[in-house]
Amino acid sequence: MPELFIDGTWRAALAGGTRDVVNPYDGRVLRTVDEAAEADAEAAVLAARRCFDAGTWPATPVAERAALLARTADLLQRDREEIARTETQDTGKTLPESRVDVDDVTAVFRYYAEQVLVDLDRTVDVGRDDVVSKVVHQPVGVCSLIAPWNYPLLQMCWKVAPALAAGNTVVLKPSEVTPLSTVHLVRLLAEAGYPAGSVNLLLGGGGAVGPVLTGHPAVDLVSFTGGLDTGRAIIRTAAETVKRTTVELGGKNPQVVFADVDLDTAVDVVLTGVFLHAGQVCSAGTRLIVEDSIADALVAGVAERAGRIRLGNGFDEGVESGPLVSAEHRDKVEAYVALGLSEGARLVTGGKRPDGDDLQRGFFYSPTVLDSCDRSMRIVQEETFGPILTVERFTTEAEAVELANDTAYGLAGGVQTADVERGERVAAAMRHGTVWINDFGPYVPQAEWGGMGMSGNGRELGPAGLHEYLETKHVWRSTRPGPVGQFTG
Ligand code: NDP
Repeated sequence: MPELFIDGTWRAALAGGTRDVVNPYDGRVLRTVDEAAEADAEAAVLAARRCFDAGTWPATPVAERAALLARTADLLQRDREEIARTETQDTGKTLPESRVDVDDVTAVFRYYAEQVLVDLDRTVDVGRDDVVSKVVHQPVGVCSLIAPWNYPLLQMCWKVAPALAAGNTVVLKPSEVTPLSTVHLVRLLAEAGYPAGSVNLLLGGGGAVGPVLTGHPAVDLVSFTGGLDTGRAIIRTAAETVKRTTVELGGKNPQVVFADVDLDTAVDVVLTGVFLHAGQVCSAGTRLIVEDSIADALVAGVAERAGRIRLGNGFDEGVESGPLVSAEHRDKVEAYVALGLSEGARLVTGGKRPDGDDLQRGFFYSPTVLDSCDRSMRIVQEETFGPILTVERFTTEAEAVELANDTAYGLAGGVQTADVERGERVAAAMRHGTVWINDFGPYVPQAEWGGMGMSGNGRELGPAGLHEYLETKHVWRSTRPGPVGQFTG
C-alpha cells in the first residue's frame, strides 16, 4: 500500500520517488516508502484547503469531533503493540519506551477530546443595551505539522490531536528518517472516519516539501518541532505570508544538584535525565551543575552507572538504551566529544563507540561524561543531541541559578535539593519552559510544554496547546441599528 495520503486516498508520489527507511540497530532497510516532491506537497495543501473551506471538518459539531478523537485513542490502544514495535525498529529506542510513547499519545487524544468541549467563548459587557458583544473561537485553517525523528509518533500527535480537535485540516510531515509510526497513525485516522482532505500525509525530505508546507499561501499555520537552524528557516519562509508559527526547538538543559541531596537518588535522576534514548531528547539534562562539595562523588556515581547502561537491540529484554538514529548523527556526536576534549574537558567515561560484536553494525555510542567544563565551552552551550553529560561546579545558590540560565535555549531544567523552599526559589528563577524539582523528565497532557529563548515559541499540550490552533474573534451586534452621527454632512 502506498504511503502518501492525500484527499482521502493512499497513493504513490507523482514523480515516483521512494526512500529506504533504515533500522538504526543494524543498518538494514526496513521498508522502502514513497517520497513526496513539491507537486505532492501542493496537492496535499490544496486538499486540506478545500476541505477546510467547504466546512466539511471545521463545521462538524464539536461533540462529533471529540468523539472521533476518543475513537482515535481507542484505535491507538488496539494497535499499541504493533505501533510500539514499529517505533522501536525505526528509532532504535527500547520497546518499553515505545509503549510509553503510545500510551502518552493515547492520553493526549483523550485529553483533547475533553478539552475541546470546554466553552471558551464569552460575552462582553460593553455598557450598552443595544449591543451584543461576543468573543468566539474558530479553527485557524490549514495547518502544516512537521515533526522530528527522536519521538516521531509522540511529537506528531502532540500537534495532530489539538489541531483536529479545534477543527483545522492538517498536512503531516514526519522526519524522512522515521516515518513509519506516522504512517500507522494516519491509517488509524482514516479508519476512525475523519473526512477526506482533513488529514493528509506527506513523506519526503524537508528540503523538497518544506518550502511548500511553510510558504504556500493556502497554509495558515505551521507547527514545527526540530532543530534551531531549521526552525529559523521555517519562521523566515512563513513570515512572507505572515503565517502563525509554533516552533519547538532544541535545548541545553541544566540539572542543578545541591549538596543536601541523597546521593544515590541524585545519581539516578541525573543518569536518567541525560541518557534516556541515548540523549536524543530535546529536554535531555545534558548540563550537570553540581555543588562543589559533592561534585566528585556525584560525578563518580554517574560515571560508574553510565558505564553499566546496557546497550543493544531495543527489542531485547534487559536492554536499556539503543543506538543513535543514523551514522551521520553519530558522526556529529563524536565530533562534539572531540571538540569538548579540545576545549579542555576531562573524559570520565565513554568517549568512544562501544565494544561488543552485536553493537558493530548499528550506530551506537557509549554514554559519555565530560568533567572540568565551564560555560564558555561550545560543548556546554550547543545541543549535541547525544549521550554526553558535561559537568560544571558551583558554590552558591546565586551562582547555580546564573549558570542554569546562561544558555541561549530555555526548554527544560531541573533542581535537586532537600530544601523545599530553595527548590521552589531556584525553580522560580530558572528561565526554562519546564522545571522539575527533585525529578527530571516527566510530562503530562494537562500541562503545557514549550521553550523560552531560542528553544522556541508557542506551547504544546495543556489548554494553551489547543489555543495555538484557534483564532479568537470579536463579534459585535447592534440590536437597534440607526445613524451613527459621526458625519453629519
Ligand atoms: P530537523 O530540524 O533536522 O528536522 C525536523 C523536521 O523538519 C523534519 O521532518 C525535517 O525533514 C523537516 N525539515 C527540514 N528542513 C525543512 C524545511 N526547510 N522546511 C520544512 N521542514 C523541514 O530536526 P531533527 O529531525 O534532526 O530533530 C532533532 C531536533 O529536534 C533537535 O534539535 C531537537 O532538540 C529538536 N526537538 C525539539 C523538541 C521540543 O519539544 N522542543 C522535541 C524533539 C526534538 P527531513 O529531516 O525529513 O528532511
